[in-house]
Order: sequence, then structure tokens, then C-alpha cells
Amino acid sequence: MKVLISMYRILMAEDEPRISSFVQKGLNSHGFTTAITKTAGETLNLVLGSEFDLLILDLGLPDQDGLKVLEELRGQGATLPIIILTARDDIYDKVTGLESGADDYITKPFRFEELLARVRARFRDTSSVSSSIDEALQVGGIRLDLRTRRAQIGDRTIDLPAREFVLAETFFRHPGQVLSREQLLDRVWGYDYSPGSNIVDVYVGYLRKKLGNDVVETVRGMGYRLRASS
Ligand code: CA
Repeated sequence: MKVLISMYRILMAEDEPRISSFVQKGLNSHGFTTAITKTAGETLNLVLGSEFDLLILDLGLPDQDGLKVLEELRGQGATLPIIILTARDDIYDKVTGLESGADDYITKPFRFEELLARVRARFRDTSSVSSSIDEALQVGGIRLDLRTRRAQIGDRTIDLPAREFVLAETFFRHPGQVLSREQLLDRVWGYDYSPGSNIVDVYVGYLRKKLGNDVVETVRGMGYRLRASS
């Protein structure tokens, strides 16, 4: 299996621990190094005082508006990509954010896969460094292409809808490891799901149908596991 660990450092300014911990876990599992700040003050200090490759910025910070943080950072010459994350869906904030130098904008509630796609897109823009991002994951006879978001088995190419692809990617990053339904819900569906839902089982069923029945094993009472060799 080929796993290239990205050296990208991502800072997330977010005062809601539920959101920051779920995003942090997700980014870490995709090979990113992360740090969290909870206030505008901390965020300014950390970004201006150290090396980060990207900032995910909540607008509703307790001490100061995130838009002010954005303006201050750009005013001080910080060039790192900034993705605004906010519960506000007001078009005024969106326009102001982009005019103030944000690179992208995500409205809560969001799914982790959406955030991940935006983060990856930002790093693809800076093409000189994009080579350290994973391009494909291979486990047994199956290759998962992270760019085209397709699976390949021999000379057969299989299209996977967004959610199925993220689920497959999660398994392929942890071959042979048991992943509980809660872990899969957390990583693939984010915090915005109803507990007790059987959506994981349904989607594992879709993957089995497309990738092969024995690719994902059920581990009774624990969860699911990708067979490390097939
Ligand atoms: Ca907030």
C-alpha cells in the first residue's frame, strides 16, 4: 500500500470543540498536521508567528469577528490560503469574506468530505507543492484514484458517488483495521447525522456490490474491516 504523508500544516480557528475535534480527526486521518485555536487573538498570534499552509477560519469567534482576523492577516501580508467556515449563510458575509481575501467559503452545517475537497483544491492551486498529496491508494488488487475519485480493479474502472468514495477512502487508509460504525459516521458523514442510523451498513453494502463481496468484512459487534489483501 502506498501512503504518502502530506507535510501540510492546517490551523483551524473554531471555538466549538465538537466541530474542531471532528474536523481535526478527519484531517489527521488524511495525513494533515493540524492545530486548533479558539479565539481571534490566538489565531493571529499563531498564524503570524509560525508556519501554516492553510487556515480554516470560523467567523463567529468569541473575542472578535473572524472577518477582522482575515483583514488583519491579509493586512500584515499573510499569504496562506484561508477558507472561511461559518454558520452564517448571509450573502453579505460571503461577499465581504471573499473581498477581504478569503480563498473559499463553507457554510455550516457542512460535511467533512466537502471541507476536505476544498482543502485539497487549495493545495492543488499551489501546484509546485501539490506532489506531496496522495494521488492513489492501493490495497490488494484495488486501486483508489483520489484525483478522478474512481476505483480500479484490473482493467475495470468503477465510478463511486461522493459519499461511497469517501467511505472507500476511509477504509483504504486503514487496511486490516476494524472501524466502528461511530468512527465511520464521524469521518464520512460528519457531525450532522442521527445516531442509530443504519446508513453505514447500507453504504458498506453498496461498496461490496461494486468492489467485491469479500472486500469489506463485518466484524461482529465491532464494525467493519477492509481486507488487507485480496
Ligand atoms: Ca463559532
